[in-house]
Amino acid sequence: DSAPPPNFIRNIIEEDLKTDKYSGRVITRFPPEPNGYLHIGHAKSICLNFGFAAEYKDECHLRFDDTNPTKEEVEYVESIKADVRWLGFDWGEHLYYASDYFDKLYDYAIQLIREGKAYVDSLSADEIREHRGTLTEPGKESPYRNRSVEENLDMFGRMKAGEFEDGTHVLRAKIDMASPNMLMRDPTLYRIRKVSHHRTGDKWHIYPMYDFTHCLSDSIEGITHSICTLEFENNRPLYDWVLDQLKVYHPQQIEFARLNLTYTVLSKRKLIELVEGGHVSAWDDPRMPTISGLRRRGYTPEAIRNFCERIGVAKRDSIVDMAFLEYCLREDLNKHAPRVMAVLRPLRVVIENYPEDQVEELDAINNPEDPGMGTRKVPFSRVLYIEQDDFREDPPKKFFRLAPGREVRLRYAYFIKCTDVVKDEQTGEIIELRCTYDPKTRGGDAPDGRKVKATLHWVSAAHAVKAEVRLYDHLFTKTNPTDEKKSSDWKSSLSPNSLERLTECYVEPSLADAAPESRYQFERLGYFCADRDSSDTSPVFNRTVTLRDEWAK
Ligand code: ATP
Ligand code: MG
Ligand code: MG
Repeated sequence: DSAPPPNFIRNIIEEDLKTDKYSGRVITRFPPEPNGYLHIGHAKSICLNFGFAAEYKDECHLRFDDTNPTKEEVEYVESIKADVRWLGFDWGEHLYYASDYFDKLYDYAIQLIREGKAYVDSLSADEIREHRGTLTEPGKESPYRNRSVEENLDMFGRMKAGEFEDGTHVLRAKIDMASPNMLMRDPTLYRIRKVSHHRTGDKWHIYPMYDFTHCLSDSIEGITHSICTLEFENNRPLYDWVLDQLKVYHPQQIEFARLNLTYTVLSKRKLIELVEGGHVSAWDDPRMPTISGLRRRGYTPEAIRNFCERIGVAKRDSIVDMAFLEYCLREDLNKHAPRVMAVLRPLRVVIENYPEDQVEELDAINNPEDPGMGTRKVPFSRVLYIEQDDFREDPPKKFFRLAPGREVRLRYAYFIKCTDVVKDEQTGEIIELRCTYDPKTRGGDAPDGRKVKATLHWVSAAHAVKAEVRLYDHLFTKTNPTDEKKSSDWKSSLSPNSLERLTECYVEPSLADAAPESRYQFERLGYFCADRDSSDTSPVFNRTVTLRDEWAK
């Protein structure tokens, strides 16, 4: 394996190892909030954090940042674990929940109150907002800011005991209402929420805020490098403030640019809207940029990991072309996906000089990129299906495929020549081709050396399995759907054509009971993967990605 590309986070880690800042340790964490399914942006963070842990033979913790009981669900916890595992990473025994630290966090809050560094504010949420000021104007101090330590301890204890209603009081850090950094203007540390938590049940009536929880969770777990996305840059002074005031072990927060991809959105909130609005069928709809959607679409963990490695990490936001993700995928599938034949839009071909009840088993190569994958038998008989697109009654100049009077090769089989076109009497639609074959071309070459300009894929009508094939296109027609005048308009470029279902497809018999998630190259068409909607009698395939040059072969 080649050495990983240099990046600024690795440089920081290397420097810290040199100066022995963290006693030679590299302990990272991936801290998802369990309020939705993971997407490809999370994969970048997972690959970074678990990647560094693997590289330095140390730990990466999976920590659920579960401090917001109203939005979090057990279903999400399970899906996140499954997705991280599927991507190929293992947290070992290092599975944590921020909610496991609620008692400790409470004690830390008490410590801040005792030292006069936190106070209970009884302004309403609106009043607190008004007091906060603006970027150009300093904030105003709350009239409750100078409550005595005793009163604060009493109030906070009663908040915990459930004596007050939601929104009546909060605990705030006492920092600086005139700070140019709005997040430092006495940020809220705790709020009252009288709701059950998926792990702590009804024990708590107050819940800690992200900025208080996150740094302390990192500290408690002995994280060395706390890697997060750029939008937390302004939170770093607060991260540092909390740890400094409490004089506890102090990890280093490092920010990198989040991943954006063309033709999609990467935000759980928006993805939830797509699911709930019925724009997609589920979180794992193959059009979704979720890990589970990509998986169902036919993506491999290797392709996603390679993609994340190659895009690297930067300090500036950018948008990566979806085509690059697809490139990484093709590269992997090309190496590993077995080739098979499938006809998506069938056109019946009768080979008039081929005996009625003869069937031959022809040898087909499973993967020309990997001879070790061997060969298989494909049945050939008098009636076949080819692709409608592979025939033109009146071929334009550069069309080299089948046409009246023209000869082409059938992959792994024979040369055939079209002798007649049968049409529906009413509609004029072509319903069948009559052809002849040359028995001497078995295997694909003519002994007399004559050439043909095209090789077509086909299936034997009597042996093929009828299947449904789902073709996907980008979810959005715009490269950057969130780039709208009104940010609420991000759904305006949802594509009406992102899913096309073909229900009359025929696949070669070896695919009859393809297990969900098995991946194939349908020769000349693209990469496809069996879907979990398949039944015993009718398989369903998702088109994962097209071939680079669809008709080059
Ligand atoms: P979303 O906006 O989609 O809800 P989030 O950041 O709120 O994302 P978290 O569950 O908090 O979601 O994310 C867990 C980790 O994944 C965080 O460290 C976060 O920075 C990182 N992450 C989330 N989205 C991206 C992205 N697009 N690119 C890189 N990292 C990301
Ligand atoms: Mg978050
Ligand atoms: Mg979010």
